[in-house]
Amino acid sequence: MSIRVLPEEVASRIAAGEVIERPASVVKELVENSIDAAASNIKVEMRQGGKRLIRVIDDAHGIPSAEVLLAFERYATSKLGAVNDLSRIATLGFRGEALSSIAAVSHVTLVTRAKGEEVGTLLRLEGGKVVRHEPHGAARGTIVTVENIFYNMPARQKFLRSEATEARHVSELVTCYAMAYPRLRFSLLRDGRTTFQAKGTGELYDVLVDVYGAEIAQHMLEIVADSRGKSTISVSGFVSDPAVHRSTGRHLLTLVNGRWVRDRLINYAIREAYHTVLPRGRHPIAVVQVVLPPDQVDVNVHPAKSEVRFRNSSEVFAAVQKATRGALAREMPVPREPSRATWLPAFETRQRRLVELGGRTGPRPGELALEVQRSAVQPAAAVERSASGKLPMLRVLGQLGRTYIIAEGPTGMYLIDQHAAHERVLYERFQTERAGSGMSSQKLLEPLVVEVGPRQRVLSEEHLAGLSDFGFDVEPFGGDTYLVRAVPAILQGTDQEQAMIDILDQEGMAGTVQAWEEKVTINLACHGATKAGSTLTMQDMQELVRQLEETSLPRTCPHGRPTMLHVSAERLEREFGRK
Ligand code: ADP
Ligand code: MG
Repeated sequence: MSIRVLPEEVASRIAAGEVIERPASVVKELVENSIDAAASNIKVEMRQGGKRLIRVIDDAHGIPSAEVLLAFERYATSKLGAVNDLSRIATLGFRGEALSSIAAVSHVTLVTRAKGEEVGTLLRLEGGKVVRHEPHGAARGTIVTVENIFYNMPARQKFLRSEATEARHVSELVTCYAMAYPRLRFSLLRDGRTTFQAKGTGELYDVLVDVYGAEIAQHMLEIVADSRGKSTISVSGFVSDPAVHRSTGRHLLTLVNGRWVRDRLINYAIREAYHTVLPRGRHPIAVVQVVLPPDQVDVNVHPAKSEVRFRNSSEVFAAVQKATRGALAREMPVPREPSRATWLPAFETRQRRLVELGGRTGPRPGELALEVQRSAVQPAAAVERSASGKLPMLRVLGQLGRTYIIAEGPTGMYLIDQHAAHERVLYERFQTERAGSGMSSQKLLEPLVVEVGPRQRVLSEEHLAGLSDFGFDVEPFGGDTYLVRAVPAILQGTDQEQAMIDILDQEGMAGTVQAWEEKVTINLACHGATKAGSTLTMQDMQELVRQLEETSLPRTCPHGRPTMLHVSAERLEREFGRK
């Protein structure tokens, strides 16, 4: 369809209003245009948090030279014709407003070449006025460069936040669209440095690894679409298992027919599914995609198209809740149905996938766990998982192989991995401390000079600020060396230099700050935890088990491995032929 200005009767029915609030809104509109135009590669660049420059490059079908000017008219679109098209919108855009709104508040340069045309076009607008319009050689596709946003609106400019904050919004947006469209290759450059890349494999799981890192991705449970029944609503995606949670709901991503929307109903349905599974006030990470026939959902309710209205909202609610519950139940069976525990196999599948992806997987699930599963004794996580997930009171009996703690509970014997258990304790403690007054820090007598290798990148301001929440005092010392003046108190008595190198060596550095912080937390927990092979006194072990009992998820370590195995009294009786 070619671009044309919408007839008055259609234009007047469109939810209009200001859509450009900040750099991220520009990126949203441009990325949506690229997706609508069938791009396979979308590259987003920003300078100074997008305040100075935003550029979106695609390899889509381009804009025919005869239509380039029209594209910047208000209500000019190629995506909508008649009024009744409004009731079945299948594209992300339809209002024909974005390009004109963006051009009105910035300097825009468009370079495009349409499929089937020999030369492309360059068009430059300043404050909505065309200042250049000429034929221009270009690759097929479209490049839109938006500079100096709000240059003509000082009042608006004042409302923009710091570069780091605006950049975070842009980055969040790009990662969301990457998760919404796993088939597309996305890349994000911030001030010339690639900060995010999605490979476009078509697998949402792969994008989760790119966005959140391998450790978190291991904790994501797949929502398997329920193909039975004749519901027209399909729900798919991933939700985090209870070992991973966040202090804000920002990580609940909901997509309706490929559109990123904020929908209270869907969010509520997801939260409901976690009822009693997550500690109070904590939120899961989730990417939930709802697909339903376009005429079942009205997308024309909000100017920024970030809200939708469902024709049958209770059906959507029920479908999302059921799908989320299903994913949780499948992987974390409740006591009554332990015989088919899929917890371990699913974990292995994910591990295998991660290995294929070349991601770092942390320690292997452990032959012992496998062995034990084969003989039908299950990791304690799969069995007797009470509603609160709490451990029963355990009595420590002794240590085995300087690696495991043997304990007795009301329902049998427990074998606890001392390192994994301590990791869990420390991980939760660090999270609480970081959310509160910060982690306790220990000043070094001699500052430590740490040189980072080529694989490690330069720490950004955000990383440095993040490190101070952990109790580090790190400052750049020129080139790729850093001066460490203080470290988290937990590292006392350990090899601090090695710990520091490990932390600076996180692959997550290239990814999002959230993913990186999660890795640092896990890494510190790992460094601070009692090692396998160290002798523990009875008192040490009692203290550790008591602390483990107090954690919210005592049965897994932060890497997702079991912290303990449980052999029920019943099983012991059976094995010894007493029954
Ligand atoms: P809308 O997306 O609502 O149609 P826009 O103002 O965002 O309105 O874009 C106007 C028109 O310009 C679109 O309908 C489309 O035809 C064309 N267009 C915009 N961006 C691109 C792009 N990246 N590739 C191809 N065509 C584009
Ligand atoms: Mg658009």
